Amino acid sequence: MGAMSVAYDQLLDGTIQHLHDLKDRGVRFVSVSPETLASLSQARPAAPPRSSSAPPVPAPRPVASPPANPMPITPKPLEPKPAPAPALSLSLSVETPTPAAAVLSPEARATAFAELRQRATACVRCPNLVAARKNVVFGVGDINAQLMFIGEAPGADEDTQGEPFVGKAGQLLTKIIQAMGLTRNSVYIGNILKCRPDTPGQASGNRKPTPEEMQTCIPYLHEQIDLIRPRVIVALGATAVEGLLGKTIGITKLRGQWRTYRGTPLMPTYHPAYLLRNQSLSEKRRVWEDMLQVMERLSLPISQKQRDYFLKAAR
Ligand code: URA
Repeated sequence: MGAMSVAYDQLLDGTIQHLHDLKDRGVRFVSVSPETLASLSQARPAAPPRSSSAPPVPAPRPVASPPANPMPITPKPLEPKPAPAPALSLSLSVETPTPAAAVLSPEARATAFAELRQRATACVRCPNLVAARKNVVFGVGDINAQLMFIGEAPGADEDTQGEPFVGKAGQLLTKIIQAMGLTRNSVYIGNILKCRPDTPGQASGNRKPTPEEMQTCIPYLHEQIDLIRPRVIVALGATAVEGLLGKTIGITKLRGQWRTYRGTPLMPTYHPAYLLRNQSLSEKRRVWEDMLQVMERLSLPISQKQRDYFLKAAR
Protein backbone atom coordinates (compact mmCIF):
# COMPACT_ATOMS: atom_id res chain seq x y z
CA MET A 1 0.00 0.00 0.00
CA GLY A 2 1.41 3.41 -0.94
CA ALA A 3 2.19 6.14 1.60
CA MET A 4 -0.67 8.25 0.29
CA SER A 5 -3.09 5.41 0.69
CA VAL A 6 -1.89 4.77 4.27
CA ALA A 7 -2.28 8.45 5.12
CA TYR A 8 -5.70 8.43 3.51
CA ASP A 9 -6.80 5.40 5.52
CA GLN A 10 -5.47 6.94 8.74
CA LEU A 11 -7.40 10.10 8.03
CA LEU A 12 -10.47 8.05 7.26
CA ASP A 13 -10.12 5.98 10.44
CA GLY A 14 -9.74 9.19 12.45
CA THR A 15 -12.84 10.64 10.83
CA ILE A 16 -14.87 7.50 11.48
CA GLN A 17 -13.69 7.42 15.10
CA HIS A 18 -14.62 11.07 15.54
CA LEU A 19 -18.08 10.40 14.11
CA HIS A 20 -18.53 7.43 16.43
CA ASP A 21 -17.53 9.66 19.37
CA LEU A 22 -20.10 12.23 18.32
CA LYS A 23 -22.69 9.51 17.97
CA ASP A 24 -21.89 8.10 21.40
CA ARG A 25 -22.46 11.61 22.77
CA GLY A 26 -25.93 11.60 21.26
CA VAL A 27 -25.22 13.60 18.10
CA ARG A 28 -27.49 12.15 15.43
CA PHE A 29 -26.73 14.30 12.42
CA VAL A 30 -23.75 16.18 11.07
CA SER A 31 -23.83 18.85 8.41
CA VAL A 32 -21.80 18.12 5.34
CA SER A 33 -21.74 20.52 2.44
CA PRO A 34 -22.53 19.17 -1.03
CA GLU A 35 -18.96 20.11 -2.04
CA THR A 36 -17.46 18.04 0.78
CA LEU A 37 -19.70 15.11 -0.06
CA ALA A 38 -18.72 15.33 -3.71
CA SER A 39 -15.01 15.50 -2.93
CA LEU A 40 -15.29 12.64 -0.41
CA SER A 41 -16.79 10.45 -3.09
CA GLN A 42 -13.89 11.21 -5.41
CA ALA A 43 -11.01 11.34 -2.97
CA ARG A 44 -10.35 7.65 -2.52
CA PRO A 45 -7.20 6.30 -4.09
CA ALA A 46 -7.76 3.39 -6.52
CA ALA A 47 -10.17 0.97 -4.82
CA PRO A 48 -8.24 -1.92 -3.28
CA PRO A 49 -9.63 -5.43 -3.09
CA ARG A 50 -11.99 -6.08 -0.22
CA SER A 51 -9.30 -7.07 2.21
CA SER A 52 -5.59 -6.75 1.85
CA SER A 53 -5.07 -9.91 3.87
CA ALA A 54 -7.77 -11.91 2.09
CA PRO A 55 -6.88 -14.24 -0.76
CA PRO A 56 -7.68 -12.81 -4.18
CA VAL A 57 -10.37 -15.41 -4.83
CA PRO A 58 -12.75 -15.86 -1.91
CA ALA A 59 -13.67 -19.33 -0.73
CA PRO A 60 -17.05 -20.38 -2.12
CA ARG A 61 -19.90 -19.63 0.25
CA PRO A 62 -21.96 -22.52 1.63
CA VAL A 63 -24.97 -23.07 -0.59
CA ALA A 64 -27.91 -25.43 -0.72
CA SER A 65 -28.38 -27.60 -3.77
CA PRO A 66 -30.76 -25.80 -6.07
CA PRO A 67 -33.63 -28.02 -7.01
CA ALA A 68 -32.64 -30.08 -10.06
CA ASN A 69 -29.30 -28.35 -10.36
CA PRO A 70 -26.50 -30.28 -8.74
CA MET A 71 -23.86 -27.84 -9.98
CA PRO A 72 -21.80 -26.35 -7.15
CA ILE A 73 -22.14 -22.63 -6.96
CA THR A 74 -18.86 -20.80 -7.13
CA PRO A 75 -19.40 -17.10 -6.68
CA LYS A 76 -17.47 -14.84 -8.97
CA PRO A 77 -14.32 -13.40 -7.41
CA LEU A 78 -15.14 -10.15 -5.71
CA GLU A 79 -14.73 -7.22 -8.02
CA PRO A 80 -13.32 -4.08 -6.53
CA LYS A 81 -16.33 -1.86 -6.23
CA PRO A 82 -16.85 1.72 -5.25
CA ALA A 83 -16.41 1.79 -1.51
CA PRO A 84 -19.55 2.83 0.36
CA ALA A 85 -19.76 5.51 2.98
CA PRO A 86 -18.55 5.41 6.54
CA ALA A 87 -21.37 5.32 9.02
CA LEU A 88 -22.45 8.91 8.76
CA SER A 89 -25.88 9.64 10.15
CA LEU A 90 -26.74 11.90 7.28
CA SER A 91 -30.40 12.35 6.60
CA LEU A 92 -30.10 11.58 2.92
CA SER A 93 -32.67 9.37 1.28
CA VAL A 94 -31.49 9.95 -2.26
CA GLU A 95 -29.55 7.46 -4.37
CA THR A 96 -26.18 9.05 -3.78
CA PRO A 97 -22.94 7.37 -4.64
CA THR A 98 -21.47 7.36 -1.17
CA PRO A 99 -17.99 8.29 0.02
CA ALA A 100 -15.26 5.86 0.87
CA ALA A 101 -15.27 3.46 3.82
CA ALA A 102 -12.32 1.72 5.36
CA VAL A 103 -11.73 -1.72 3.86
CA LEU A 104 -11.46 -3.99 6.87
CA SER A 105 -9.79 -7.35 7.30
CA PRO A 106 -12.26 -10.19 8.03
CA GLU A 107 -11.27 -10.08 11.71
CA ALA A 108 -11.70 -6.31 11.96
CA ARG A 109 -15.04 -6.59 10.18
CA ALA A 110 -16.24 -9.24 12.64
CA THR A 111 -15.15 -7.08 15.58
CA ALA A 112 -16.80 -3.97 14.16
CA PHE A 113 -19.97 -5.94 13.49
CA ALA A 114 -20.08 -7.31 17.04
CA GLU A 115 -19.59 -3.78 18.39
CA LEU A 116 -22.37 -2.50 16.14
CA ARG A 117 -24.69 -5.30 17.27
CA GLN A 118 -23.99 -4.37 20.89
CA ARG A 119 -24.81 -0.71 20.26
CA ALA A 120 -28.01 -1.53 18.36
CA THR A 121 -29.12 -4.01 20.99
CA ALA A 122 -28.76 -1.37 23.70
CA CYS A 123 -30.50 1.34 21.65
CA VAL A 124 -33.15 3.42 23.43
CA ARG A 125 -33.79 6.07 20.78
CA CYS A 126 -37.50 5.30 20.37
CA PRO A 127 -39.00 5.09 23.89
CA ASN A 128 -42.32 3.63 22.68
CA LEU A 129 -40.57 0.81 20.80
CA VAL A 130 -38.16 0.16 23.66
CA ALA A 131 -41.09 -0.17 26.08
CA ALA A 132 -42.92 -2.64 23.84
CA ARG A 133 -40.11 -4.78 22.45
CA LYS A 134 -39.08 -8.23 23.62
CA ASN A 135 -35.92 -8.25 21.53
CA VAL A 136 -33.94 -6.00 19.27
CA VAL A 137 -33.90 -7.83 15.93
CA PHE A 138 -30.48 -6.94 14.61
CA GLY A 139 -30.05 -9.24 11.60
CA VAL A 140 -28.94 -12.73 10.68
CA GLY A 141 -26.62 -14.49 8.26
CA ASP A 142 -23.14 -14.18 6.85
CA ILE A 143 -21.45 -10.85 7.46
CA ASN A 144 -19.32 -11.57 4.37
CA ALA A 145 -22.39 -12.27 2.22
CA GLN A 146 -22.59 -11.13 -1.37
CA LEU A 147 -26.36 -10.84 -1.13
CA MET A 148 -28.36 -8.90 1.45
CA PHE A 149 -32.15 -8.89 1.88
CA ILE A 150 -33.74 -5.91 3.61
CA GLY A 151 -37.28 -5.88 4.96
CA GLU A 152 -39.19 -3.21 6.83
CA ALA A 153 -39.43 -4.23 10.48
CA PRO A 154 -39.81 -7.25 12.74
CA GLY A 155 -43.27 -8.68 13.37
CA ALA A 156 -44.48 -10.51 16.46
CA ASP A 157 -42.62 -13.76 15.69
CA GLU A 158 -39.40 -11.93 14.96
CA ASP A 159 -39.75 -9.87 18.15
CA THR A 160 -40.21 -13.06 20.17
CA GLN A 161 -37.32 -14.94 18.57
CA GLY A 162 -34.94 -12.00 18.03
CA GLU A 163 -34.39 -13.00 14.39
CA PRO A 164 -35.71 -11.37 11.22
CA PHE A 165 -38.06 -13.16 8.84
CA VAL A 166 -38.93 -16.21 10.91
CA GLY A 167 -42.75 -15.94 10.72
CA LYS A 168 -44.91 -17.04 7.77
CA ALA A 169 -43.53 -14.38 5.41
CA GLY A 170 -40.04 -15.25 6.59
CA GLN A 171 -40.57 -18.92 5.84
CA LEU A 172 -41.55 -17.97 2.32
CA LEU A 173 -38.44 -15.79 2.03
CA THR A 174 -36.36 -18.78 3.14
CA LYS A 175 -37.96 -20.87 0.35
CA ILE A 176 -37.17 -18.17 -2.20
CA ILE A 177 -33.55 -18.08 -1.02
CA GLN A 178 -33.35 -21.87 -1.29
CA ALA A 179 -34.91 -21.81 -4.77
CA MET A 180 -32.02 -19.54 -5.73
CA GLY A 181 -29.63 -22.28 -4.63
CA LEU A 182 -28.60 -20.41 -1.48
CA THR A 183 -29.25 -20.73 2.24
CA ARG A 184 -30.23 -18.29 4.97
CA ASN A 185 -26.73 -18.73 6.37
CA SER A 186 -25.02 -17.72 3.14
CA VAL A 187 -26.88 -14.42 2.72
CA TYR A 188 -27.54 -11.60 5.19
CA ILE A 189 -31.09 -10.69 6.23
CA GLY A 190 -31.97 -7.47 8.02
CA ASN A 191 -34.62 -4.83 8.40
CA ILE A 192 -34.77 -1.05 8.33
CA LEU A 193 -36.26 -1.01 11.83
CA LYS A 194 -34.61 -3.18 14.45
CA CYS A 195 -37.57 -3.06 16.85
CA ARG A 196 -41.13 -4.23 16.26
CA PRO A 197 -43.45 -1.24 15.66
CA ASP A 198 -45.61 -1.11 18.78
CA THR A 199 -49.38 -1.52 18.47
CA PRO A 200 -50.81 0.00 21.66
CA GLY A 201 -54.32 -1.16 22.43
CA GLN A 202 -54.20 -3.85 19.74
CA ALA A 203 -54.22 -7.51 20.67
CA SER A 204 -52.65 -8.56 17.37
CA GLY A 205 -51.50 -7.29 14.00
CA ASN A 206 -48.65 -5.16 12.81
CA ARG A 207 -48.27 -1.56 11.79
CA LYS A 208 -46.01 0.14 9.27
CA PRO A 209 -42.98 1.86 10.72
CA THR A 210 -43.32 5.64 10.63
CA PRO A 211 -40.89 7.67 8.49
CA GLU A 212 -39.43 9.13 11.73
CA GLU A 213 -38.83 5.65 13.19
CA MET A 214 -37.14 4.56 9.97
CA GLN A 215 -34.97 7.65 9.87
CA THR A 216 -33.95 7.15 13.49
CA CYS A 217 -33.01 3.51 12.97
CA ILE A 218 -31.54 3.50 9.48
CA PRO A 219 -28.00 4.54 10.54
CA TYR A 220 -27.62 1.02 12.01
CA LEU A 221 -28.58 -0.49 8.65
CA HIS A 222 -26.13 1.82 6.90
CA GLU A 223 -23.37 0.56 9.16
CA GLN A 224 -24.41 -3.04 8.46
CA ILE A 225 -24.32 -2.44 4.70
CA ASP A 226 -20.99 -0.63 4.89
CA LEU A 227 -19.41 -3.46 6.86
CA ILE A 228 -20.88 -6.32 4.84
CA ARG A 229 -20.38 -4.59 1.50
CA PRO A 230 -22.77 -6.93 -0.35
CA ARG A 231 -22.60 -7.06 -4.13
CA VAL A 232 -26.38 -6.93 -4.38
CA ILE A 233 -29.17 -5.75 -2.07
CA VAL A 234 -32.78 -6.92 -2.41
CA ALA A 235 -35.36 -4.55 -0.91
CA LEU A 236 -38.51 -6.39 0.12
CA GLY A 237 -41.75 -4.50 -0.30
CA ALA A 238 -42.97 -0.96 -0.69
CA THR A 239 -42.16 0.19 2.84
CA ALA A 240 -38.57 -1.05 2.71
CA VAL A 241 -38.10 0.53 -0.71
CA GLU A 242 -39.57 3.80 0.54
CA GLY A 243 -37.35 3.73 3.63
CA LEU A 244 -34.27 3.18 1.47
CA LEU A 245 -34.94 5.23 -1.64
CA GLY A 246 -37.48 7.72 -0.37
CA LYS A 247 -40.91 8.14 -1.87
CA THR A 248 -40.62 7.32 -5.55
CA ILE A 249 -42.94 5.59 -7.96
CA GLY A 250 -44.95 2.69 -6.50
CA ILE A 251 -43.51 -0.76 -5.92
CA THR A 252 -45.52 -2.18 -8.83
CA LYS A 253 -43.55 -0.02 -11.25
CA LEU A 254 -40.31 -0.07 -9.31
CA ARG A 255 -39.90 -3.80 -8.82
CA GLY A 256 -37.63 -5.57 -11.24
CA GLN A 257 -35.67 -2.38 -12.00
CA TRP A 258 -32.12 -2.02 -10.73
CA ARG A 259 -31.40 0.91 -8.46
CA THR A 260 -28.27 1.88 -6.55
CA TYR A 261 -28.07 2.25 -2.79
CA ARG A 262 -24.89 3.34 -1.03
CA GLY A 263 -22.99 2.39 -4.17
CA THR A 264 -24.52 -1.10 -4.30
CA PRO A 265 -26.95 -2.45 -6.93
CA LEU A 266 -30.39 -2.76 -5.36
CA MET A 267 -33.29 -4.83 -6.67
CA PRO A 268 -36.73 -3.82 -5.37
CA THR A 269 -39.28 -6.63 -5.26
CA TYR A 270 -42.55 -7.49 -3.57
CA HIS A 271 -42.59 -8.42 0.12
CA PRO A 272 -43.14 -12.15 0.71
CA ALA A 273 -46.16 -11.22 2.87
CA TYR A 274 -47.75 -9.84 -0.30
CA LEU A 275 -47.24 -13.19 -2.01
CA LEU A 276 -48.97 -14.89 0.91
CA ARG A 277 -51.96 -12.62 0.43
CA ASN A 278 -51.91 -12.89 -3.37
CA GLN A 279 -51.24 -16.48 -4.34
CA SER A 280 -51.44 -15.96 -8.11
CA LEU A 281 -48.76 -17.61 -10.23
CA SER A 282 -48.17 -14.37 -12.10
CA GLU A 283 -47.15 -12.47 -8.94
CA LYS A 284 -44.89 -15.34 -7.83
CA ARG A 285 -43.34 -15.31 -11.29
CA ARG A 286 -42.70 -11.56 -11.05
CA VAL A 287 -40.78 -11.95 -7.80
CA TRP A 288 -38.99 -14.93 -9.26
CA GLU A 289 -37.94 -12.94 -12.33
CA ASP A 290 -36.49 -10.31 -9.97
CA MET A 291 -34.53 -13.07 -8.23
CA LEU A 292 -33.32 -14.42 -11.60
CA GLN A 293 -31.92 -10.96 -12.30
CA VAL A 294 -30.17 -11.03 -8.93
CA MET A 295 -28.74 -14.49 -9.64
CA GLU A 296 -27.48 -13.32 -13.02
CA ARG A 297 -25.85 -10.28 -11.45
CA LEU A 298 -24.09 -12.55 -8.95
CA SER A 299 -23.14 -15.04 -11.69
CA LEU A 300 -24.93 -17.85 -9.88
CA PRO A 301 -25.68 -20.88 -12.05
CA ILE A 302 -29.28 -21.08 -13.22
CA SER A 303 -30.77 -24.33 -14.48
CA GLN A 304 -33.52 -24.43 -17.10
CA LYS A 305 -35.85 -25.71 -14.41
CA GLN A 306 -35.08 -22.69 -12.26
CA ARG A 307 -35.61 -20.37 -15.22
CA ASP A 308 -39.05 -21.87 -15.77
CA TYR A 309 -40.38 -21.69 -12.18
CA PHE A 310 -43.92 -20.28 -12.00
CA LEU A 311 -44.05 -19.89 -15.76
CA LYS A 312 -46.95 -22.16 -16.58
CA ALA A 313 -50.19 -20.24 -16.88
CA ALA A 314 -48.46 -17.19 -15.41
CA ARG A 315 -49.16 -14.77 -18.24
N1 URA B 1 -41.49 -8.55 7.64
C1 URA B 1 -40.38 -7.78 7.56
O1 URA B 1 -40.32 -6.81 6.80
N2 URA B 1 -39.36 -8.13 8.35
C2 URA B 1 -39.36 -9.17 9.15
O2 URA B 1 -38.35 -9.43 9.81
C3 URA B 1 -40.52 -9.96 9.19
C4 URA B 1 -41.57 -9.63 8.43
